Amino acid sequence: MHFELTPDQEQLRAGARELARSFGDDYWAEKDQKVEFPWEFYNAFAEGGWLGIAIPTEFGGGGLGITEAALLLEEIAASGAGMNGCSTMHLTIFGLNTIVKHGSADLQKEILPSAADGSLHVCFGVTEPNAGTDTTSITTFAEKVDGGYVINGRKVWITKAGDSQKMILITRTTKREDVTRSTDGMTLFLIDIDREKIDLRAIPKMGRNAVSSYEVFIDNLFVPESARIGEEGKGFKYLLDGLNPERILLAHEALGIGRAALEKATRYAKERVVFGRPIGKNQGVAFPLAEAQIRLDAAELMARQAAWRYDQGLPCGQQANSAKWLCAEAGFQAADQAIQTHGGMGYAREYHVERYFRESRIMRLAPVSQEMVLNYVSQHVLGLPKSY
Ligand SMILES: Cc1cc2nc3c(=O)[nH]c(=O)nc-3n(C[C@H](O)[C@H](O)[C@H](O)COP(=O)(O)OP(=O)(O)OC[C@H]3O[C@@H](n4cnc5c(N)ncnc54)[C@H](O)[C@@H]3O)c2cc1C
Repeated sequence: MHFELTPDQEQLRAGARELARSFGDDYWAEKDQKVEFPWEFYNAFAEGGWLGIAIPTEFGGGGLGITEAALLLEEIAASGAGMNGCSTMHLTIFGLNTIVKHGSADLQKEILPSAADGSLHVCFGVTEPNAGTDTTSITTFAEKVDGGYVINGRKVWITKAGDSQKMILITRTTKREDVTRSTDGMTLFLIDIDREKIDLRAIPKMGRNAVSSYEVFIDNLFVPESARIGEEGKGFKYLLDGLNPERILLAHEALGIGRAALEKATRYAKERVVFGRPIGKNQGVAFPLAEAQIRLDAAELMARQAAWRYDQGLPCGQQANSAKWLCAEAGFQAADQAIQTHGGMGYAREYHVERYFRESRIMRLAPVSQEMVLNYVSQHVLGLPKSY
């Protein structure tokens, strides 16, 4: 057993760190306040060839695993870019794996090279207002017609929909009441975001404001059969394939924000003098920071193990879920403690930790809530009866 990254992984990580850190906290604070997509940042990573890191080499990508993709996103978050930075590319980095695994050869050729070079932006439409976490209750429907499907329905919280040309969309092709198993009858599509047929409304939200999330209204959108990903009716199964990698990436992003917050808090604790001594000399200030370090380090081990298992082709549901839970908690606690360490100034935008705090909060909600992770572990690891 060993815990070292390979020299190649270390080099990749150093490269990602250097590029990410060339965009400072002030850049992110401005983008967040102006609610502006960080194109300079995105384009720099596209030009550097980072976006296709996990896309197979035959489609112009780097062909690397989730471990490398996770290290990239962790470094981006840790640079102070946080979720604002990660969300610009999160889906390109690994979300297109559904197309790699289940898309037709034509769809792969059409999509993957332009995703790898950063020119194509894709978002992911799963959540619906009336279904929430219970994905099998979605009602967005794709009705079979000559040559394709006509889609009607509504999604919510779809990140980057307004900055994307395409959306991976899950629909029902058979109503829930007409299938034996609720997970049957769902189908994935890659649709064009045709603004004639799709209305988008940005949701005003607490944080990560450089990247907007949208309500999506789809009205009689025709899509050709070639836009379907894989077989009709198997969409939920394909969706499940992507859950572990998504959790592993999110875990590393949460870790990165926690590291950024702890770095700022530690620096401040060394510099800020009250009662004639640096506040970090008080154990009441130092111990919570030491605890944050310990929690982040422990969460990192689980996240790395989950990534390693995924890349080895080993089952990793337990580790991916545990990593997501641990990293989200550790990242959030570190961000909260960073505010506490800064005292009143922690609440001021100038010190950036309030931005990290707002962004770290998302990790406990999305893409899967902490409660649903605990449901997974209760049922699939401990063998307890399903509670819902
Ligand atoms: C910033 C942001 C970006 C997002 N981006 C995307 C995106 O790009 N694409 C997309 O499809 N979605 C996206 N989402 C949606 C996100 O995945 C959902 O918000 C999340 O899965 C929770 O679903 P919900 O909001 O409908 O909560 P609900 O399902 O309404 O649940 C509400 C609360 O009840 C709890 N709960 C529900 N059922 C149970 C149960 N059985 N046991 C215990 N607790 C339960 C939940 O954990 C949660 O805390 C995003 C959300 C946010 C906030």
